[in-house]
Amino acid sequence: MHLKSLTLRGFKSFASATTLRFEPGITCVVGPNGSGKSNVVDALSWVMGEQGAKTLRGGKMEDVIFAGTSGRAPLGRAEVSLTIDNTDGALPIDYAEVTITRTMFRNGGSEYALNGETCRLLDIQELLSDSGIGREMHVIVGQGRLDSVLHADPQGRRAFIEEAAGVLKHRKRKEKALRK
Ligand code: ATP
Ligand code: MG
Repeated sequence: MHLKSLTLRGFKSFASATTLRFEPGITCVVGPNGSGKSNVVDALSWVMGEQGAKTLRGGKMEDVIFAGTSGRAPLGRAEVSLTIDNTDGALPIDYAEVTITRTMFRNGGSEYALNGETCRLLDIQELLSDSGIGREMHVIVGQGRLDSVLHADPQGRRAFIEEAAGVLKHRKRKEKALRK
């Protein structure tokens, strides 16, 4: 399994549709300060369901929508599509290629789609959590995040390990079942 491409439309500084293609192996994104490198990483978190404005380096969720520049008006929606190569079947879905799309409008919530079909956030989370990409997004280590892993208390450290091992999903389901 590897990431094939990422398309940003109206996401943060990417007002015009921009597609990045990835090959298997390591990809480096280089560019001057403020050119949008971190915004690309934010788009990856966001399309996989990130719900925290702070994690996305904003104050509120709609801060991910292109806010306009002196020469260009703000946009009303942000959309990001991530295409994953699933020829090895790492994702529990019967497609060799999986495209996740998230759209958000300035006046409201988010919409999600899997290979073009509207779905729930939960469907995306469940699909990804089996591949080790969990809700807490520990696969994306942003600047400063390493510190928080190293300084976590024993419970926090256990949560990191459980998520990496894919146990957290079952624990959450168990807790939910016990509450009923
Ligand atoms: P550095 O090398 O300093 O880490 P970077 O390449 O990671 O820089 P980013 O943080 O990705 O840069 O991009 C910051 C730029 O994105 C800023 O110019 C900021 O104004 C712009 N930006 C962020 N959110 C929006 C938005 N909603 N609309 C328009 N521009 C935005
Ligand atoms: Mg940066």
